[in-house]
Order: sequence, then structure tokens, then C-alpha cells
Amino acid sequence: MTAEFIKSASSPEQFPADGLPEVAFLGRSNVGKSSLINALTGKRGLAFTSNTPGRTQAINFYRIDGARYFVDLPGYGYAQVPVEAKNAWATLIEKYLQERKTLRFSFLILDARRGWMAKDLELKQWLEANQHSYIVVASKIDKLNQAEQQRGLRAIRQHAEPLPFSARNGRGVREIWQAITKTHQQ
Ligand code: GDP
Repeated sequence: MTAEFIKSASSPEQFPADGLPEVAFLGRSNVGKSSLINALTGKRGLAFTSNTPGRTQAINFYRIDGARYFVDLPGYGYAQVPVEAKNAWATLIEKYLQERKTLRFSFLILDARRGWMAKDLELKQWLEANQHSYIVVASKIDKLNQAEQQRGLRAIRQHAEPLPFSARNGRGVREIWQAITKTHQQ
């Protein structure tokens, strides 16, 4: 498999124009989005991971096998981002989600320990209202013991069935890839 960083776009004119189908990755800052992209591609340093949430404000495009893009959308919900930066974020994401014809579906990533937070639910409702397909991923599942996993996944299931995932031990990578290839065959 080949995975290459193509570009970082801060406005729609900069989005790739070659028409490949896209899978978007959405989630709160620090939810584990970069780690998920790295785990799926098997490339450790492909997406930038850090402990400083809210830093990336651009949309990153990674081309996978020359066949599709993984689209890394900036994390939301980080309280310390100034209001203006938050608005810029919302505008860019909304433009992408609303106007991108090549977008096939999105992964909505939740921290398995926290479940649905207000902003996640808002985004979920927006996706549904705009007829966007999405799959929920429950990340960092390795941080919970068995009982906590059951409880956490049950809570998430109140709104949607999650795919449990761990970047630490690789749980869920196969299932997430299956979801990607299945959707692209349709
Ligand atoms: P992003 O801001 O959503 O891109 O989140 P990152 O991928 O940068 O991850 C944020 C922090 O959570 C980092 O310290 C990661 O090492 C950690 N992390 C991410 N995914 C996992 C996981 O599946 N398991 C564990 N234990 N830690 C994770």
C-alpha cells in the first residue's frame, strides 16, 4: 500500500482537483484522528500526532494507493482556540462537507472513554440532515478494561453502532478498512 501526503489546504481552491473518491476523518481535537490515519496506512509519521490539540487548522489530503484520498479535517471543540479561529474552522469544514462532490463518507471519531459530546452530536445531526453517510469509530479502546469497554460502547450505541479501535494494538484496523473498501465498491 502507498500513502502519501499531497497537500494541506486552507481554502477550497486548494483542494485536489483530480476527482478521486474521498473518505473524511472527523473528530474532536486529541481524539486520536492522526493516530487512526497512521494506523490505517501503516505509516507512523504520515499524519501529524501531537499532544497540543487545536493546532492544525487546515485540511490535509493523503493519497492512498493512487485510488482515493484520506481527508484529515481539523479537530473541533478545543476550548482554547480563539473565537475567530473557531469560525474559520467551521467555515472551512462546512465548505468541504457541503461542496465536496467526491466525498463518499466520513468517519466520526469518538474517544471510547468519553462517548458522545455535544459537538459530536451536533456534527452527527448535521451529517444526517445533509444526507451524508458516516461510520462512528470508538478510539483509544485499549485505555478501558473489559467492563469499561462494554459500558462505553453501550453508551455510544444509543446513537450509532461504533467500530472499536486502538492505535496502540491495532484493534479495529481490519474492520475499518473493510468499511472503506465496501463503500468504495458501491
Ligand atoms: P488528534 O488530535 O485527533 O489527531 O489525536 P492524536 O492522534 O494526535 O492523538 C492524541 C493523543 O492520544 C496522542 O498522545 C496519542 O498517542 C494518543 N492516542 C491516540 N490514539 C490512541 C489509542 O488508540 N490508544 C492510546 N492508548 N492512545 C492513543
